[in-house]
Amino acid sequence: MIADILKEFNIPARHSGVSTGKHWLKGEGEVLSSFSPVDGKEIAQVQSGSKAEFDAVVAAAEEAFKEWRQWPAPKRGEVVRQIGEALRTHKTSLGKLVSYEMGKSLQEGYGEVQEMIDICDFAVGLSRQLYGLAMHSERPGHRMYEQWHPLGVVGIISAFNFPVAVWSWNAMLAWVCGDVCIWKPSEKTPVTALVCQHIVQSVFAANQVPEGVCNLVTGGREVGEWLTHDTRIPLVSATGSTRMGKAVGSAVGARLGRALLELGGNNAIIISEAADLDMSLIGCVFGAVGTAGQRCTSTRRLIIHESVYDAFTQKLVNAYKQLRIGDPLNENNHVGPLIDKQAVQAYQQALEQVTKQGGRFLVEGRVLEGKGFESGCYVQPCIAEVQNYFDIVQHETFAPILYVIKYKTLAEAIDIQNGVPQGLSSAIMTLNLREAEQFLSSAGSDCGIANVNIGTSGAEIGGAFGGEKETGGGRESGSDAWKNYMRRQTNTINYSNSLPLAQGISFDL
Ligand code: NAD
Repeated sequence: MIADILKEFNIPARHSGVSTGKHWLKGEGEVLSSFSPVDGKEIAQVQSGSKAEFDAVVAAAEEAFKEWRQWPAPKRGEVVRQIGEALRTHKTSLGKLVSYEMGKSLQEGYGEVQEMIDICDFAVGLSRQLYGLAMHSERPGHRMYEQWHPLGVVGIISAFNFPVAVWSWNAMLAWVCGDVCIWKPSEKTPVTALVCQHIVQSVFAANQVPEGVCNLVTGGREVGEWLTHDTRIPLVSATGSTRMGKAVGSAVGARLGRALLELGGNNAIIISEAADLDMSLIGCVFGAVGTAGQRCTSTRRLIIHESVYDAFTQKLVNAYKQLRIGDPLNENNHVGPLIDKQAVQAYQQALEQVTKQGGRFLVEGRVLEGKGFESGCYVQPCIAEVQNYFDIVQHETFAPILYVIKYKTLAEAIDIQNGVPQGLSSAIMTLNLREAEQFLSSAGSDCGIANVNIGTSGAEIGGAFGGEKETGGGRESGSDAWKNYMRRQTNTINYSNSLPLAQGISFDL
């Protein structure tokens, strides 16, 4: 099945990972082997870029920008509309490949491609709505307004867990805004990136889009560092761990470039005494075990009112007994593998720390062995009773480990929810309007995303996506996130026959 998909996109066993569009460079850097966590088999080898090739790609991007920025935005939108159509055509095969290379369930693989299609649709509409404001000038015979211009070359660094959707959130908006992009995908999922480059290129070729608007440079951290340090790249949009974000943020900041950071989360759901417990259960379990706990918005902590604590934890334990773990391409399974053995090790270390720091497991975790688990990447989702201040609870472990914490008052629950270094997604389950509004108020959740009666994971593209504190502060996707990809210019035009100065200053010659 996967062989057919690779054939459909002309991906041989070894493929260059460096491209300016139609042109694929040799790929003189390190060779990345992409192994599927589903069965441990190698999917393909990808030849990364050398520094010289990276420089050539940036030069091509700069050249392309000179032309692309002059295309009318709705014309750029029309090209993006066609990318959405091409993604519709390839949704099944790309979705399967995402599922196989990353390890998420088939439904989530398709969902990820759907998210790409949705952002294309959003970007098409946006291409006619890049509005600036008009202001009233204080000077007679003057007009003042602002306009938004394309910014230039946008560097996109993406994480393994949403191998293609996060790139598209950035690229589709950047393109309608008139920017050109250089994508450095995760070294753990380079093959899906090759496929995206081929899909976009087929559309670009049909529309005579200049070479250098859609660029790809695969590689590891080093390639990301080239991007972040390059003064020719005014915006670096980086998705990944807080550790990575601190490195990228300081390097881009040191050269006074712009960084858009989408980093780790430590997301909690408050289960109030006024919650619909059956409904809450679905949100909590999907949030904690979906994508094997490898979403930035995965539910890591449940803060449960003492009066419903025993009843709800019992429901959770029963639900965890029903979970089917295995091949994510088999739609009967709920939970697939972790991305690689390194992630399994981090999971095991976290389990040890939970016990060491005083936690107690309600559902024990372990690494699964035997038939179907040969890749060594499948783990048992687990639940532990903890205190919020435990060091291990304060950190994001990218695995299906769910912490449960008891509370007495809503104020205490909100303090616990906010009492971590990250600030991405949060939720409250309650049928009590006062509680819901307090949670959403300025004295409530401190996260970029705050929900009522739905879980923490799964965001729609229409809203601005991102979080506060160590999550990095960036916003991508919907609302006015497009402004990140443009530069604002304020224009004042004098159509009178004198030159009055602002603030009433007189300057006679
Ligand atoms: P990671 O930080 O290990 O890698 C992410 C990307 O950054 C990769 O492409 C990597 O090569 C690159 N990179 C690493 N160090 C770098 C450096 N010093 N300079 C430049 N580039 C560098 O993250 P991961 O394991 O791929 O992904 C998991 C993490 O991503 C989790 O923390 C998760 O919460 C986060 N994430 C956040 C969001 C969000 O929108 N907030 C979305 C998805 C994932």
